[in-house]
Amino acid sequence: MQEILQKRIYLSSPHMSGNELKYINEAFETNWIAPLGPNVDAFEKEIANYVGVSEAVAVSSGTAAIHLALSLLDVKKGDKVFCSTLTFVASANPILYQGAEPVFIDSEPETWNMSPLALERALKEAFMDGKLPKAVIVVNLYGQSAKMDEIVSMCNQYDIPIIEDAAESLGSTYKGKASGSFGKFGVFSFNGNKIITTSSGGMLVSNDIEALKKARFLATQAKDQAPHYQHSTIGFNYRMSNILAGIGRAQLEVLEERVKARRLLFDRYYQELGCKPGIKFMPELNDTQSNRWLTALTIDEKVTGTSIHSILNALAVEHIEARSVWKPLHMQPLFKGVKCYTHNENTNVSEHLFNTGLCLPSGSNMTEEEQLKVIKYVKESLKIRV
Ligand SMILES: *Cc1c(COP(=O)(O)O)cnc(C)c1O
Repeated sequence: MQEILQKRIYLSSPHMSGNELKYINEAFETNWIAPLGPNVDAFEKEIANYVGVSEAVAVSSGTAAIHLALSLLDVKKGDKVFCSTLTFVASANPILYQGAEPVFIDSEPETWNMSPLALERALKEAFMDGKLPKAVIVVNLYGQSAKMDEIVSMCNQYDIPIIEDAAESLGSTYKGKASGSFGKFGVFSFNGNKIITTSSGGMLVSNDIEALKKARFLATQAKDQAPHYQHSTIGFNYRMSNILAGIGRAQLEVLEERVKARRLLFDRYYQELGCKPGIKFMPELNDTQSNRWLTALTIDEKVTGTSIHSILNALAVEHIEARSVWKPLHMQPLFKGVKCYTHNENTNVSEHLFNTGLCLPSGSNMTEEEQLKVIKYVKESLKIRV
């Protein structure tokens, strides 16, 4: 009984459908326990179809997919890469793997994602300096697409390829088009906390079939066509296992349900908390649909009398896992001294979102009862000092 009462409510935990075992068993019965195999081939096709791109390459993580994309774009030492600042560190780590130099771009308030204004200023300056970036990594935070029309047209103007980090936005759309399909490369993650999971895994998608062919080559140790083991370039061991791809296939079958469930959780949070003064939910841009991977909101401490930290603490005491919004990368010790272009002269939007924003438990397997418990404790912690 005690155990049930104390059951932890997670931010976003894996949610199996049951069908995963069918694909895993198939792999066992045919002894395809290798990286690569029929599940990998099928999962790649199914993702490519779903997203509406030519092809997909299944890899060991979303981070690996970003790294491959940068390698394919020949990003190397001395090159610059622009990247959203309000994101998980995995968006930018591969820039460092390549020995290149990140430049961070602030968020704007309507999507919390890359500010076209900041991007424009950064591109103009880089152009004047004669040192345009080799790539721009655009993140779709918590499922919400960035302002793709503006960003794509600006990058086209300077002929700079986009890597769309859609690790959090599988199942989302922007003007009717699938998230992840806007850049030269799109990246998905199937880490345990994402909207669908393969326990760990990722996917690189593109309409450039030749580039993806090279991605497969690089991701399997870059083995030359030769009768012996011969290598002329640096390769990686980045492919997805056939077992994990089996999990992915079953997960993809229920993706639409998972999106619905997460959106429903968002709606209920919004109904219960959206009317409270000082609370603002992450917006959804017109003509876009977010998968609402995580419900995120900001708290104006001056109005509510409660900081996000006291809410987080109050939830933690009740064994409820909630988190503050990603700490912007330009504020990370790892990236000390890296330039960040702010939304406008006086406002750093991402810093504001970090200081005031938090993410509530949003797992698609969370029960209504559990969600009501979360809401209850959020409301109570608001009352503490009001
Ligand atoms: C999860 C995540 C990644 C990395 O994916 P992994 O599969 O964990 O390597 C990259 N970018 C963002 C925005 C993410 O949320």
